[in-house]
Amino acid sequence: MPKVFVTYKIPEVGLKLLCERYEVEVNLEDRFLSSEEITRRANDADALVTLLADKIDRHVIETLQRVKIIANYAVGFDNIDIEAAKEKGIVVTNTPGVLTDATADLAIALLLAVTRRIVEADEFVREGKFTSWKPELFLGPSLQGKQLGIVGLGRIGTAVAIRAKAFGMRVVYYKKRRLSEEEENRLGVSYMDLDELLSSSDFISLHVPFTSETHHLIDEKRINMMKPTAVLINTARGAVVDEKALIEALIDRRIWGAGLDVYEFEPRVPEKLKALDNVVLLPHIGSATVETREKMAIMVAENVIAVLEGKEPPNRVV
Ligand code: NAP
Repeated sequence: MPKVFVTYKIPEVGLKLLCERYEVEVNLEDRFLSSEEITRRANDADALVTLLADKIDRHVIETLQRVKIIANYAVGFDNIDIEAAKEKGIVVTNTPGVLTDATADLAIALLLAVTRRIVEADEFVREGKFTSWKPELFLGPSLQGKQLGIVGLGRIGTAVAIRAKAFGMRVVYYKKRRLSEEEENRLGVSYMDLDELLSSSDFISLHVPFTSETHHLIDEKRINMMKPTAVLINTARGAVVDEKALIEALIDRRIWGAGLDVYEFEPRVPEKLKALDNVVLLPHIGSATVETREKMAIMVAENVIAVLEGKEPPNRVV
């Protein structure tokens, strides 16, 4: 019977599909395994289910003996050396689409949390400081009529654009390949090059994947192009932004604020960032709805089953 090794417990619905067909070993400890532990425990496995926190580099891939598929429990797959997998003929799959709405919702939630100062205001109430309604208590910029710049208008970026329109925002976008005029009109979005988008937008939301091209796409020079009233939202990947430069800009109040779900050296969150009141910090929960995480688990299982049955997996990356 084929064996599947799962590096960290995923929702039961997905595990059940696998357990009905295969011998399944799941790491049930509440910790991520080292590369050595993964290669050792997946040594006799035919399929490997991984999380973003698992670094599946060339060394790990070359050490795997029988694995035919690495099914990543995420849409991003920057934790896996795709080239090495391709060379070894190992299929890599991800979980696109099912987390689009959840992640777009979270980007908007962060934008509202930063602009309306939700976290600060909540602390204020809990600390017993709420004595009366006041005309200038916790003021922030409104969304209505403002320009949202979306960097990366794929699945999630598009879902954010649709939400932003409902809030009365003007949406501009930047991505590698410009949409057709028809698509732009349908979505009600306008294209801008990145620097123009950054310098003219009131709010900026990042939705590009992390690749060698997007590493520090938002660097110090580009942060300095932003308006002093700008808010930066990052639910993509931490290292798309030069985190050090962002922290300095937030300290100097060169931009108004930031909402972050992801960090450059995750899970490490710099103390300097934690000390700031103009930033809202979340622990990478973009796709964290019950429904989404269950759908992701089912997708992972379906990809594994397809490959182990000699079929084309629904969500092949390579
Ligand atoms: P997607 O549909 O593939 O969209 C990616 C977009 O980025 C596309 O519009 C693409 O443009 C653009 N892009 C890629 N490389 C670029 C570059 N070098 N310069 C400019 N634009 C570039 O992906 P998605 O499903 O929306 O997901 C986006 C990312 O969100 C994932 O890769 C993942 O890292 C992150 N994510 C985070 C969470 C979370 O929990 N916080 C959850 C889900 C996803 P073209 O079409 O022109 O190539």
